[in-house]
Formats: sequence, C-alpha cells, structure tokens
Amino acid sequence: MLTRLLGLNSEELRQRLQEEGEPAYRGDQIAEWIYRHQAHTFAEMTNLGQTLRAQLENKYQVGRSRVINVQHGQDGTAKLLLEMCDGALVETVGLPYPEHFTCCLSTQVGCPIGCVFCATGLSGYTRNLEPGEIVDQALTVQEEMRSSNSPGNNDIRRLDHVTFMGMGEPLLNYEATIKALHLLNEELGMGMRNITVSTVGLVTGIRKLAQEKLQVTLAVSLHAPNDNLRRKLIPRMGQWSVAEIIKACRDYIRDTGRRVTFEYCLLGGVNDGTAEAHQLAVLLRGLKCHVNLIPYNPVPGLAFKAPSSRQIQVFREILSSAGIQVTQRFQRGQGIDAACGQLRQRAMKKAPVEQY
Ligand code: SAH
Ligand code: SF4
Repeated sequence: MLTRLLGLNSEELRQRLQEEGEPAYRGDQIAEWIYRHQAHTFAEMTNLGQTLRAQLENKYQVGRSRVINVQHGQDGTAKLLLEMCDGALVETVGLPYPEHFTCCLSTQVGCPIGCVFCATGLSGYTRNLEPGEIVDQALTVQEEMRSSNSPGNNDIRRLDHVTFMGMGEPLLNYEATIKALHLLNEELGMGMRNITVSTVGLVTGIRKLAQEKLQVTLAVSLHAPNDNLRRKLIPRMGQWSVAEIIKACRDYIRDTGRRVTFEYCLLGGVNDGTAEAHQLAVLLRGLKCHVNLIPYNPVPGLAFKAPSSRQIQVFREILSSAGIQVTQRFQRGQGIDAACGQLRQRAMKKAPVEQY
C-alpha cells in the first residue's frame, strides 16, 4: 500500500522530500496543499512539477477518507460516515454555531470501554486511528460544510474549534491523539485552547496529558458521583475510584492552570436524581471546574431513556446553588442519529440510512 502523507507535519514532510532528492521547501508546499487547501491528490498540487508529482504518486498517497454518507440536520449540523483506506468506518460531526464552527472527532474505530449507554461501545472495538485519520475528519467536515447548501450553512467560516468526543477513547490512543493535537494547532492553525479532549476518566492518561503542558481543555466523563453507580455505567473503568479521578483532575488543574470540564450524561431515572446532584456538588466543591450536563440521546436497542426537562432543571439548580458553574449541552442534530456511534452501527447492519 502507498504510504500516507496526511499525518506528517511540515518538518517530517521536508525530510521526506529531501530523501526524494528535492529541496526541503517542497515539503512545506505539500503541507500547505494537504492541510490548508485540503488537496486529495498530487495532481491538485499545481506548483509541483509534473515529474515530481508522478514520482510521488508511485510511492505515496495523500491518504484522505471517502465520504460514505452524510446526514444534515435542520440546525446545520452534519454527521458524516467516513471510510478509511482499509475500509474501517468512522463517524464525525460538524456543528456550526453563530460564534464558531466545531467538529467532533473520533479517535478509534469503535471503543473498547463499552459504557453501557453508548452506541459506540455497543459495536465493539476494531483499532486505533492514526493521526492522519483523525485530522482527515476535520478537513472532510470543513469541505462538506462548505460544499453543502443545507439550512444554516450559508456562512461557514474556517473550522475553529475541535472536540475529541466522537467514537473511541482518546487517551487509549494517546500518541496519535497528541500528534493530532499538534497537527491541528501547527498545520491547520487552530488554537490549542479551542480544542477539547474528552476522556472517560483514565487516571494514568490524565496525569500524562498534564505533563504535556498543552493549553487544551480536558473534559472528563464522570456520569456518577459515587463508585457504585459509576461501576454500573462504566464497568470496565472500575480500577479507578471517583476519588482517584477527582484527585487526578485536581493535579491537572494545578499543573496546567486550566479549568476542567466534567461531563455528566443524564440518564432518566438512573443518575439524574436530587441525591446524585447533591453528592456531585459536594464532590466538586472548591474545584476549578465546570459541569456540562448532557441529556441522554436514546440509542435503539438500549433500555436507557432521556431525563425529563423538570429533572434536568432540578439537577442544574442544585449544582448552581452550590456555586458550581453548569451548562447544558444543546441537543443538536436530533433526528440524524446524533448519538455518537449510531450512524456507523446502522451502516454496519446495512439498514437504510435516510437523508434528512
Ligand atoms: N470516550 C470519550 C469521548 C467520546 S464520548 C468519553 O467517554 O468521554 C463523548 C461524550 O458523549 C461522553 O461524555 C459520553 O458519555 C457521551 N455520550 C455517549 N453516548 C451518549 C448518548 N447516547 N447520549 C448522550 N451522550 C452520550
Ligand atoms: Fe467509549 Fe466514550 Fe462511548 Fe464510553 S462513552 S463507550 S468511553 S466512546
């Protein structure tokens, strides 16, 4: 198979081109084509001579994915199903907001953690994604949003925010995630502060990430204020107690100076009670943090249900009155298999995927 260039940074591309007997600046030109102009082929790289383009085609490929399916929501959200070079299917989502344009990236094909409420967990785990395959999603979302004429997409600016909240657990694919963060920052020009890495709470990974001293936002999916409940929702993360996770977050805040976000997926009748809200408030007291409440997006085949609006409000108020900053994730992209992993799950079952 041809070697993929997408995933190499400018420095690595300069070295490659020098190995091909070319001046180093050719590497910068290729980086510019791949990351700034979203080129899919060497043929598009018109400032490279024809002989060089032919030479590169024999050995390398840009390595972009193929768009298999796109679902557009009425709010401008676009959910893409991408096929990687080896046929692996990956989901990514573009979310245009009035102030910014966000993309939700996957880091693994499936996920080995298997949280009991998550569609991605249901479909098992295949492999880690490579840095180029992670960045490809951002490039593809940007292209798709620009070319689509779905409602709300008339004024798409450059992608300026990224969240690692798609399929998979970023800290289980640590090296590729770190490389992707640098590529987004250095090659695509995205501010590190505009990037959020979401983890299910791998304590070793959180501690390692703190030492990178990056200005990214860390989001920790807590979902439960006590070990008993958390172990029921995330059975494979039982080795770390809630207290250990909070301790790792406290150290992360100390080492990076950054506020941590706690994600709390509200599952109707499971973890959305007033007792859990009070317990969470006590747990997070005095921590430089922010809680993001995510009302559950029901997954076909799973018994969990969304919380009532009343319960969301009560939960929110208990946290706010305890002085904890709390936001609620907007439920965007409803009707387009918005819960992560659903589009892929459906495609794998070969069920028809209707367009919005
Ligand atoms: N593996 C990482 C990142 C991907 S999941 C993590 O777990 O943090 C991103 C977020 O989506 C997590 O907080 C997860 O709990 C939440 N999530 C997964 N399935 C969901 C669903 N059906 N409805 C609402 N949120 C969901
Ligand atoms: Fe994996 Fe995150 Fe889904 Fe849990 S919520 S199964 S960690 S992707």
